[in-house]
Amino acid sequence: MDVIAELAGLIGADAVLTAPSDLEAVTEDWRGRYRGPALCLARPATAEQVAAVVRCCARHGVPVLPQGGNTSLCGGAVPSESGPAPVILSLTRMRAVRAIDPVNNTMEVEAGCVLATVQDAAAAAGRLYPVSLGAEGSCQIGGTIATNAGGTSVLRYGNTRENVLGLEVVLADGTIWSGLYGLRKNNTGYDLKHLFIGSEGTLGIITAATLKLHPLPTRHAVAWVGMASPEDALTLLTRVQGRSAARLSAFEMINRLQLDLVVDHVPGRRSPIESEAEWHVLIELSDNGSGDALDAELQAILEDAFADGLLSDAALAASEAQRHAMWEVRHSVSEANKKAGVGLTTDCAVPLSAVPAFIRGATAAVHALVPDLPVIVVAHLGDGNVHFIPFFTFDAWAAAGKGGAGNGNGEGGGRDALAAALRHAVNDEAARLKGTFSAEHGVGRVQLAEMERYKPAAELALMRAVKQALDPQGIFNPGRLLPPG
Ligand SMILES: Cc1cc2nc3c(=O)[nH]c(=O)nc-3n(C[C@H](O)[C@H](O)[C@H](O)COP(=O)(O)OP(=O)(O)OC[C@H]3O[C@@H](n4cnc5c(N)ncnc54)[C@H](O)[C@@H]3O)c2cc1C
Repeated sequence: MDVIAELAGLIGADAVLTAPSDLEAVTEDWRGRYRGPALCLARPATAEQVAAVVRCCARHGVPVLPQGGNTSLCGGAVPSESGPAPVILSLTRMRAVRAIDPVNNTMEVEAGCVLATVQDAAAAAGRLYPVSLGAEGSCQIGGTIATNAGGTSVLRYGNTRENVLGLEVVLADGTIWSGLYGLRKNNTGYDLKHLFIGSEGTLGIITAATLKLHPLPTRHAVAWVGMASPEDALTLLTRVQGRSAARLSAFEMINRLQLDLVVDHVPGRRSPIESEAEWHVLIELSDNGSGDALDAELQAILEDAFADGLLSDAALAASEAQRHAMWEVRHSVSEANKKAGVGLTTDCAVPLSAVPAFIRGATAAVHALVPDLPVIVVAHLGDGNVHFIPFFTFDAWAAAGKGGAGNGNGEGGGRDALAAALRHAVNDEAARLKGTFSAEHGVGRVQLAEMERYKPAAELALMRAVKQALDPQGIFNPGRLLPPG
């Protein structure tokens, strides 16, 4: 029996899709840059069915590619154009919020739950699941765990890794590991969940998780600030941290070009301030209690900063609608950039104190390759995470592609080499400042060459040993995360 027929027997014919119209959306990434053929899309409804799919694929030697919301920005969730076509395994039928324990501050959810659904369910119980990012309306909790997603509240609450207490995972031999602990303390040897968090589907299929919850803030103060330089933004960050301590929940920075692209390309978005400032910062304080003390606190900080010449303009959100509108601008950056042209997204992190030097150095390195190329900067500044994005209009990108053979993935011809050179230039600058090329999006396929370039050989060898131990046949997500040995 062939693998598709066998899968249909195991999980039901209607849960195994092969029609081109069903596969179209799952075989191409969110930005339309990467695509490749799949054998089929399997949609199991339980962990047992996931295990049956994995065992069947292992028997047939067919790769398994787990896919969440398919919002990966590094080509991690779609098949390669060459090599054996995988079974794409989707958990969209595993979306239950199984339990919320407000006393233990935990919730247990199936991995196919959309992140926004998890946030809403926690909020309905008076709790906060703090991981928040622009794709939260479509990415799944399993995908965020598999990539150890960051987002806009890492500064206060940590990455996804800090907000996961337990996991259920289907292993390569079909064993279901049930590690859904809801414990803050558990020193019983190796903490296995951490192997799977950030493993990008290469070690097992995450089918459920126990998440850590926090008190739901009841008050928020949000401001949008225009500034002259990243140095000034860092000074302001230090001041806000000094005065508001843990109440600071976000400190995000974008450059002028990024703001203009959002305003020009995403309907309904407006600049929160009338300003020619080169740098724009969104600050959020949050807290529990009532009253407008938080607004007053942020206003006082901004007035002092204004008096000291640190900022040129600022607007404090005066209503829930204004707060929402400011966040909408920030969360629209990826959509705007996708519509506006081709951005070569990078995902660096450097020590906070090195951020201005990184932005200066990366700009110079990019301009040494392509003079005057526009660059977009989107920074989770509070985390030292800078998406430094060399940016081409569609016309400029087409012109850059003359000559050479392409890979058919949107970076074809001479553009492959150019894109690689530009990314290396930016990532070299991060490495020089003791930073990383991959802060939150993961490695996927886009960053494979960087893994070889920057990861110490000893670390790669250890990672290969882990992969060999957990997935000796190499069926999970081949060609992702780990460069060939
Ligand atoms: C508009 C936009 C904004 C974004 N903003 C941010 C941001 O601020 N911070 C950030 O960190 N990322 C961001 N991202 C990237 C992306 O949303 C995250 O990486 C997210 O965590 C991916 O989740 P997903 O469910 O879409 O996973 P997918 O893209 O489907 O998959 C990502 C990887 O996880 C694996 N995987 C998926 N589900 C499972 C599972 N159940 N078990 C095992 N492996 C699995 C896949 O094989 C793949 O390797 C953004 C993306 C977009 C489009």
